Amino acid sequence: MKLVTSLGAGAAFWLSSALTGATAQDLNVLCGVDKDWCLTMEAAFEQTTGLDVAMARRSTGEILEQIRDEKDDPQVDVWWGGTGDTHLQAAAEGLLEPYRPAHTGDALPWAQNFYQLSGGTASGVYAGALGFAYNSSVLTGNGLKAPSCWKDLTDPRYLGLVQLANPNSSGTAYTFLATLVQLLGEDEAIRYLAALAHNISHFTTSGAAPVKAAARGETGIGISFIHDAVTQQQAGAPLVIVAPCEGTGYEIGAVSIVKGAKHLQAARRFVNYSMSPEGQATGTASGQNQIPSNARAALPPAAPDISLIRMVDYDFATFGSPEQRRRLLDRFDKEVLGNSSPVVTQ
Ligand code: PLP
Repeated sequence: MKLVTSLGAGAAFWLSSALTGATAQDLNVLCGVDKDWCLTMEAAFEQTTGLDVAMARRSTGEILEQIRDEKDDPQVDVWWGGTGDTHLQAAAEGLLEPYRPAHTGDALPWAQNFYQLSGGTASGVYAGALGFAYNSSVLTGNGLKAPSCWKDLTDPRYLGLVQLANPNSSGTAYTFLATLVQLLGEDEAIRYLAALAHNISHFTTSGAAPVKAAARGETGIGISFIHDAVTQQQAGAPLVIVAPCEGTGYEIGAVSIVKGAKHLQAARRFVNYSMSPEGQATGTASGQNQIPSNARAALPPAAPDISLIRMVDYDFATFGSPEQRRRLLDRFDKEVLGNSSPVVTQ
């Protein structure tokens, strides 16, 4: 596999484009996955194609907002990564360009279904299950027993020791909200979240921030995708990963081309690359642990075996609809955030 020999240069460009808002001549990409993967992908694609890419990392809800705001004069060509139900919302709002990528025939069945559901505008790149992870040193230090279920996280003994992202910005947290609605019913899910909010120290912008904070010992428990927790564990953090006893939801991370993209040919090349075994190998190369959608792509050695996790039959059509998202986020803002006083940070 030919990969990243010029990561330093890529990192410098990342910073310059992200900080100044500069755009590249050849292709502008918003990246919804972990920053390390964004950098590796940018460098690998540039090396493979010789194209000049400007890539910036944003959380999924922020990308949707930006694409919506720019719809009359799109500045972004490709939206790569981030939870797929948000891509479906963009598709329903007519913000995406139809495209059938090369390698679609090699996509696993869940990715084929996702592509159909999007009306041929968004393709599944990876999948991963939601869960939480706790820092065993922090919990032991506070004399607390380990949680194993979602319901345990509302125990007042964990006051101030839980972190979750804000579902307005974070696709991870929106997946959590939608998962709870599917597990408990909507009213009970909102009641659960209102109770959980009492224990939450920070609603972060980014979905992986809670588990990173738990890895550093800044919080006791982080709610995030399990593959993000695995990445922290592999880096040596004293995290214990939990697939909650009630069952959980999962994401299909996606890629799509923005309607009216100014660099359409380059955008198609990027999407093709992101669906290829080589493009998907950039995940493992940057320490990520999602399950790749291409049947020919190698599974990261530490990827969680999601067949062992009790999973809801996640309804992407319902929770990918703009109306459902707006309604659930309104309830979250009023009934969960409105009744809590955590600090909101990055
Ligand atoms: N980072 C990783 C590794 C992910 O798998 C995902 C989900 O697609 C995200 C980030 C999404 O980020 P956020 O929750 O900030 O939108």
